[in-house]
Amino acid sequence: MEFRDLKKQYEVLKDKIDLRVLDVMKNAHYIGGKEVTELSDMLKEYVGAKYCLTCANGTDALMLVLKAWGIKSGDVVFVPDFTFFSSAEVIALLGATPYFVDVDEKTFNLDPEKLEEAINIVKAEGKYNLGAVIAVDLFGLPADYEKIQRICSKHGLKLLEDGAQGFSGKIGDRLACSFGDASTTSFFPAKPLGCYGDGGAIFTNDEEVYKLMKSYAVHGKGDDKYDNVRIGYNSRLDTVQAAILIEKFKALKEYEFSDINKIAKRYTEMLKGVVETPEIPEGFTSAWAQYTIKLNSKEERDNLQKALKEMGIPTMIYYPKSMHMQSAFKDVDFMEEKLKTSTRLCDISLSLPISPYLTEEDQNKVVDGIKLCLNKGEKK
Ligand SMILES: *Cc1c(COP(=O)(O)O)cnc(C)c1O
Repeated sequence: MEFRDLKKQYEVLKDKIDLRVLDVMKNAHYIGGKEVTELSDMLKEYVGAKYCLTCANGTDALMLVLKAWGIKSGDVVFVPDFTFFSSAEVIALLGATPYFVDVDEKTFNLDPEKLEEAINIVKAEGKYNLGAVIAVDLFGLPADYEKIQRICSKHGLKLLEDGAQGFSGKIGDRLACSFGDASTTSFFPAKPLGCYGDGGAIFTNDEEVYKLMKSYAVHGKGDDKYDNVRIGYNSRLDTVQAAILIEKFKALKEYEFSDINKIAKRYTEMLKGVVETPEIPEGFTSAWAQYTIKLNSKEERDNLQKALKEMGIPTMIYYPKSMHMQSAFKDVDFMEEKLKTSTRLCDISLSLPISPYLTEEDQNKVVDGIKLCLNKGEKK
């Protein structure tokens, strides 16, 4: 059994993807070919954003937004403590200070109340400039943007949606990667929309920021590539990856998104009363980058993972360490007692195999395995 079945997905899409890739080979526009424009047009229309800039990966996407916003040393950027390293890494990379905020135990996402508390603490201290807020759509579920946006507007903070795991998720009819002042996503292979290598994209309605990011992404170019008006980066999406993404995006829209939601629903029904299953708030739809259950303790979680492994069932721990526990952030100030939920989630969370291609048979195996390990089998 695969944790996320990318081989099966390729088998299904092989004919279409192979043709697309061969076409790129024949045309030999390996960088900036027509597929890159075709893809960004498709994505921005779907998401409902005015501009889409593709780039080398989801980490660069975050970095380019913060860079275009002028985030620098002396600024503080609020970020959830429970996330993938990139969300916080880019803040420090630009010389700014990350401020770790605790998450909501039910949704795994940035807790709006704790965010407001953190903003007030930083304001009262007066040591830093208020830079921006990064909210993350963890495991595929959009963060609570209604509340978070209200807090950001109140305090004059820019909001960045890290939708690396959230692409195709929704709040009402509004799609992930359309919230805040800018949104980013990642095309890392195992994400809801993944390519066959690294890739990323940025969405925004702000024309000036879009133009600035476009320049930063290509060596700070001005009117053309050999006119350099600022120091930038080299961060582009390859044409081959764009070609693959065009076909994978169609599959996501046509059936993968609805299939994975059916599979997640089936897990939740079968695991009811066995373990704590993910809670999706009313009106929200997850992209199911992960299906993450909660156990009662670290010991129970670790034992379960080990036992499932022996049965040939792969699981993952997202995340074993939250941001404030990372040695790379040892010099960053934080208040341990304010990050308790995040710390606990590191101990009790376990992500189960899921993909739009997970069979009922494999899913039954996972559920039976969990019941057996926890001695919660059906009473006969
Ligand atoms: C994967 C991920 C990223 C980084 O994306 P890359 O394409 O791997 O650079 C950023 N934030 C979150 C929440 C992620 O899951």
